[in-house]
Amino acid sequence: MTEHPIEFEFPDITPWRAGNAGTEFVHVLESTEPGPVVMVNALTHGNEVSGAIVVDALLRHGLKPRRGTLILSFANVAAYVSFDKDRPFKSRMVDEDFNRVWSRLDQPGDSVELRRARQLRPFVERADLLLDLHSMHDDCVPLMLAGPLQKGVDLARRVGTPIDIIRDKGHPSGRRMRDHGGFGDPDSPKVALLIETGQHWRAASVAVAKDVTARFLVLTGAAEPADLPVDWQQKLPPAQRVVEVTHAVATRQGNFTFVKRHNGQDIVAEAGTVLGHDDDTPIVTPYDNCVLVMPSNHRVRAGVTIVRMGRVV
Ligand SMILES: [Zn+2]
Repeated sequence: MTEHPIEFEFPDITPWRAGNAGTEFVHVLESTEPGPVVMVNALTHGNEVSGAIVVDALLRHGLKPRRGTLILSFANVAAYVSFDKDRPFKSRMVDEDFNRVWSRLDQPGDSVELRRARQLRPFVERADLLLDLHSMHDDCVPLMLAGPLQKGVDLARRVGTPIDIIRDKGHPSGRRMRDHGGFGDPDSPKVALLIETGQHWRAASVAVAKDVTARFLVLTGAAEPADLPVDWQQKLPPAQRVVEVTHAVATRQGNFTFVKRHNGQDIVAEAGTVLGHDDDTPIVTPYDNCVLVMPSNHRVRAGVTIVRMGRVV
């Protein structure tokens, strides 16, 4: 059983299976007015349901883009439908992490996630602006993962929420969808954002997913505020801050233990503080006022990131 309660009903997304663009669970909506290709994606990880609620709601709402093209998609549906209440964290993926395969799409290899990423690739490559909706294993304040480039930080600032913008390079174990193609190229105008809305099954995470998606759609010109449900936008925070990730610590063999429990965005005052041990190797903070980004207070497999360390810039 889990210490994390499930605070909402999971949506039935089977009505969206056929899609309208030749790929299951992908809907491409066109306006007659010129404009950018805007994409909102949910279920990159199968148990991250707040995003699925939002994309399902947009489809049921019958949203049509004001200009350009709007792509609405559910990525790892195979993982989503494998959800089991007694093992709720298992449905993150089927064979491997969908959000680490994007450097391997042209290489040989086969998995449920590689196959699905190859199906979604033409849509991701068509998008000028991408919002990828995620949530987190542990309770944590929402985080906008803006990627390594200034253009991501700039767009996150224009969205205006949440408070914390994380500038990060991703994971040594493989490229994320949000860094694919033009999104990861400083010379391309394409920009992607990844929102971590909060804990996977908190009602509060759904509120964050709705707010950020509504603001993203209005900002990109895909929608006007009146096109969206009235209760989606929340109050903006008074200010945002950018945390630049300098270190991503992955556990070598899956044997990392923290000295004490940390919450996401905790700040450790002194350089050299021992956070925990990976097997026998101590992991220490590299500088004063080190921000702990998404520490995993649960056991993870070998090679998985257990904490990122960053500084407010
Ligand atoms: Zn995720």
